[in-house]
Amino acid sequence: MAMPKPLTFDHLNLFPGLVHGVFSRAEGYSNGSFQGLNVGLSTGDDPDIVNRNRALMLSSIGLTRVLFLNQVHGTDIAVIKSEKDVAGAVWKGQGAALSKIFNADAAVTNLKGLGLVIQVADCQAVVLYDPQKKVIANVHSGWRGSVANIIGRCIDTMVTRFGCNPERIRAGISPSLGPCCAQFINYKQEIPKSLWHYKEKDRPYFDFRQISRDQLGAQGVLDEHIETMGLCTRCRTDLFYSFRANKTTGRFAAVIALTI
Ligand SMILES: [Zn+2]
Repeated sequence: MAMPKPLTFDHLNLFPGLVHGVFSRAEGYSNGSFQGLNVGLSTGDDPDIVNRNRALMLSSIGLTRVLFLNQVHGTDIAVIKSEKDVAGAVWKGQGAALSKIFNADAAVTNLKGLGLVIQVADCQAVVLYDPQKKVIANVHSGWRGSVANIIGRCIDTMVTRFGCNPERIRAGISPSLGPCCAQFINYKQEIPKSLWHYKEKDRPYFDFRQISRDQLGAQGVLDEHIETMGLCTRCRTDLFYSFRANKTTGRFAAVIALTI
């Protein structure tokens, strides 16, 4: 199996102490609806194959320890400041049984060598990095996350728990359901009025990436420190998994880790 090559954010590539990437479905061992590098265990795919995909992904960026979350479209944030915080929850390779998994939709850490993984199939993964404090985060923001502003909460956590300065924080927004495909016919029930100005004038299509950009900005993250990959998952099922396009599908991963 060829090594997967993740997409990366140009501005994060400038920092030597950081590895990161967004993994398309290219390469990987999964078949059928899950074809490619599916890292999601709760998708219906064969768990042994998913674990092989996870191991392949990690070896391609030189990581041996990562944190997967049980993402629940909530607002809880796993704060990892010591090995004790993460005991039993670190995925170290195929066959490794975990005794703990965080029910959370974001994780923040200053630990070196521990990758933070977010799994998505239309939702946004938002990676965050404060190069001075050497703190990273990874956020899962679907539409419920956008409504609850989990991105803003995560920046807050970086500030209050790790002493980060938002003006230094770099952010990268993964491929996700684009404004071309983010149709919300029940938006009057699902999305608060305060976000309706992100809707197209005449159609119920929303720009969730712009919501994220503005939520970052509202916390003090500079616009020039935000990079968006821009690809739409539903339009590009050749590259990514999309729940909107195919109800039975995999999850692709965004990963970030401090190395030094
Ligand atoms: Zn699209």
